[in-house]
Amino acid sequence: MTKYIFVTGGVVSSLGKGIASASIGLVLKSRGFKVTIQKLDPYINVDPGTMSPYQHGEVYVTEDGAETDLDLGHYERFTGLTMTQANNVTAGRIYYSVIAKERRGEYLGKTVQVVPHITDAIKAAITSLAAKDRVDVVIVEVGGTVGDIEGLPFLEAIRQLRNELGRGNSINIHLTLVPYIKAADELKTKPTQHSVGKLREIGLQAEVLICRTEKPFSESVREKIAQFCNVEPEAVIQALDVEDIYEVPLMFTKQKLDDTILKLLGLERPSHDLTEWKTRVVDRALHPKRRVAIAVVGKYVQLQDAYKSIYEALRHGGLANDAGVDILKVSAERVTKANVAELLDGASGILVPGGFGHRGIEGKLDAIAYARERKIPFFGICLGMQCAAIEFARNVAGLAGANSTEFDANTPHPVISLLEEQKRVTDLGGTMRLGAMPCRVAPGTKAHEAYGLAEVRERHRHRYEFNNRYRDAFAQKGMIVSGVYEKADLVELIELDDHPWFIAGQFHPEFRSQPLAPHPLFRAFVGACLKKTSDT
Ligand code: GLN
Repeated sequence: MTKYIFVTGGVVSSLGKGIASASIGLVLKSRGFKVTIQKLDPYINVDPGTMSPYQHGEVYVTEDGAETDLDLGHYERFTGLTMTQANNVTAGRIYYSVIAKERRGEYLGKTVQVVPHITDAIKAAITSLAAKDRVDVVIVEVGGTVGDIEGLPFLEAIRQLRNELGRGNSINIHLTLVPYIKAADELKTKPTQHSVGKLREIGLQAEVLICRTEKPFSESVREKIAQFCNVEPEAVIQALDVEDIYEVPLMFTKQKLDDTILKLLGLERPSHDLTEWKTRVVDRALHPKRRVAIAVVGKYVQLQDAYKSIYEALRHGGLANDAGVDILKVSAERVTKANVAELLDGASGILVPGGFGHRGIEGKLDAIAYARERKIPFFGICLGMQCAAIEFARNVAGLAGANSTEFDANTPHPVISLLEEQKRVTDLGGTMRLGAMPCRVAPGTKAHEAYGLAEVRERHRHRYEFNNRYRDAFAQKGMIVSGVYEKADLVELIELDDHPWFIAGQFHPEFRSQPLAPHPLFRAFVGACLKKTSDT
């Protein structure tokens, strides 16, 4: 029988529920359990694909082409599991399916209500995941904070489900904050007591508390929390701020969180083995042999979460080279021809990530021109690849005014444009070219050298494509097409002949990079940046 772990959050948002859930997933997997992780998001959008990074942070794309919450990125990176659309359920998706059912007449005669119809649909979304994968443990992370109005149907569904599953088959892990009040020199447990009380009002009892705290707490604080919140003292976990997020699983096992969870769920398995995680990820991340600075030139660099997977993948590329990567965040809108050298000073490599809309494009083009001319390693991703093509068209191939039709519908040289099928699209949600597709990698190219494979699969999320009309003109000037999607003859990878490392891809390699399996292109890119550092 599948066991369930429901992870909720209280007091404030941004406590790191996603990283906690991913870490629990890794720890249970390391004890030999088959696990999966699901994220429930209480917003009404069907998926985060239509939300701005200001609202939501990165949109994480799965193999099957679902546009999902960035926590699924943590799940994949920590556990190595493959997430799908079913691992991310939003209120919007649930309502959409219930309303469609109502229109089909499947509830004929009934009033369709939050309880039981919406809650039934939520329960079905949770339990069907376990049935599909025959897992031992499903970790279900509930987005938002206990007390949010929009989270109520999800918590009610969980209350019902816990009741139906019976005692010992599910637990609720609640993440809270134990703030330190400087003036009193004290850690305060009251917000945690209130938050657990709020959960109880909804009918949910937390069995484990993960307490985020800046300062280690004493036994008496632990006992006080345990007593007032109805949990065992060993189930009160201190989650101190760590230097590196990849330390969290080790912090949990040190406090025997895995033993506590298994005991509560009535499961038994030998102890965990996190040696590989410790030596190959944590130790290397904390004590790299050397360091390298890489600039990311993007529109949303002031937000922590907008390029999450890119930043993580760069760190993985660092791990593979036993190097720490210092990321220099450069706002594309600030970059001009006049200041580019100054803004990118000290960077041994330049990465231009994906994006939408014309804001910041000219700055990205200036940064790419700088990387190309000064022979600085360059990595372009999705929009970054499209910009590399535009820059090359304008400054090398002599095509003045070249652009993507996304930014200039009347450009004389549409080097990036829409395919016919995309021109017919009217709904913007979920209609991009999405998910993993094969890419044939040309032998003798730098991409091939990095991958060591003739065919790879990479994830996509874009509408516009390289315009094949310009392939020959580009080739004559030294831009090689090093990867194609053969089925539709689409350009997937381009690179420069006379440059130490200049690769740009239409897909998003960052989504497939993991600390234990750094992505080959990120590994090679960071390697090239390190070489640049030692050469200069
Ligand atoms: N805006 C571009 C497109 O839609 C690039 C998208 C991206 O970078 N993810 O094709």
